Amino acid sequence: MSSTRVLVLNSGSSSVKYQLLDMRDSSRLAVGLVERIGEQHSRLKHTPLAAGGESREWTEPIADHDAALKAVSAELAKDGLGLDSPELAAIGHRVVHGGKHFTEPTVVDDAVLAEIERLIPVAPLHNPANLTGIRTAQALRPDLPQVAVFDTAFHTTMPESAARYAIDVETADRHRIRRYGFHGTSHAYVSRATARLLGKAPEDVNVIVLHLGNGASASAVRGGKCVDTSMGLTPLEGLVMGTRSGDMDPAVIFHLARVGEMSIEEIDTLLNKKSGLIGLCGDNDMREIRRRIDEGDERAQLAFDIYIHRLKKYIGAYYAVLGTVDAIAFTAGVGENAAPVREAALAGLEQLGLVVDAERNAVRGDGPRLISPAGARVAVAVVPTDEELEIATQTYALVGNA
Ligand code: AMP
Repeated sequence: MSSTRVLVLNSGSSSVKYQLLDMRDSSRLAVGLVERIGEQHSRLKHTPLAAGGESREWTEPIADHDAALKAVSAELAKDGLGLDSPELAAIGHRVVHGGKHFTEPTVVDDAVLAEIERLIPVAPLHNPANLTGIRTAQALRPDLPQVAVFDTAFHTTMPESAARYAIDVETADRHRIRRYGFHGTSHAYVSRATARLLGKAPEDVNVIVLHLGNGASASAVRGGKCVDTSMGLTPLEGLVMGTRSGDMDPAVIFHLARVGEMSIEEIDTLLNKKSGLIGLCGDNDMREIRRRIDEGDERAQLAFDIYIHRLKKYIGAYYAVLGTVDAIAFTAGVGENAAPVREAALAGLEQLGLVVDAERNAVRGDGPRLISPAGARVAVAVVPTDEELEIATQTYALVGNA
């Protein structure tokens, strides 16, 4: 029997998201989520898409990632899709930080695990959970290839001029401080899908990708390779996000410590969890912000204006970095759904060949679509991202024919 299935695991500190795909046609057989691992009211939601699609959901204590993965396997087994199946070819893991070292998806061995562990100081929230996910899956299916797909990998092509901060080189190197970028799986997928939408090869187009979700990042992609991206050492840099500040003068931190008498932990929480849209207006959901704006709420309007101003600055910057731009692609929760964001971000940029067609922009749809007028100099596109499919595709490409 040929093995054509790939399980994609996205392991967080207290959650595991998963999808089982059949790579013959890239179809989803099952998707699900385990939340609140380690708590009394852990929750599992499982949707067996290949078996009717009716979700099953239950709440009971799940002690750790091992118990979570066993619970997932038991749910999959109910529909004949258990993890012990010979049809499972590999497990693909999302790993947030691959540093400079991991430029491609990688089959996990002891050396790879050690390197992911070595990167924990630059990704203290994410890499430990990703490692736990890999180790748990290894224990469950030691015979199966486990593949790590890194959020940073797509950005490793950035030139030093974009990747380095202008700080003392020795200090930076000693602490591995540089701009790594994140959301790379999404930027890779969307930039390629945009080329496809234009009927061209990725090598032949320059694309600005705007991944606007609760986390948000922009990238400049020249001929299929990332040359700059807005997130840096951590996902805090760059655009205004749901709860993160994005760019600001680093001296704000000294000021908060010295004058505001805040601890480093408090400042970290402020900038990562209580800033961005939620800090500006109390809401981080763009739907709610738009609703408030329609009711004349000035704080919501100001938050929206700051969000758009930053976005526009990055569009301009990446236009200049690339020199020639074939397409701008909007993706993720806000990018795919919020027509007013797309319209406002490109308003007034006609001189750059950037025009949004109001009617096309208003149409809702599932697949990649153009929202610029026919014959526009630069294509403006909405391209739904699919990080799980990208992880599964990269995983299968690596091990599928083994
Ligand atoms: P993501 O992180 O990609 O899942 O995006 C989540 C964010 O997308 C939410 O916090 C909302 O701000 C935004 N979002 C989702 N649906 C819509 C919608 N229909 N209109 C505007 N924003 C949306």
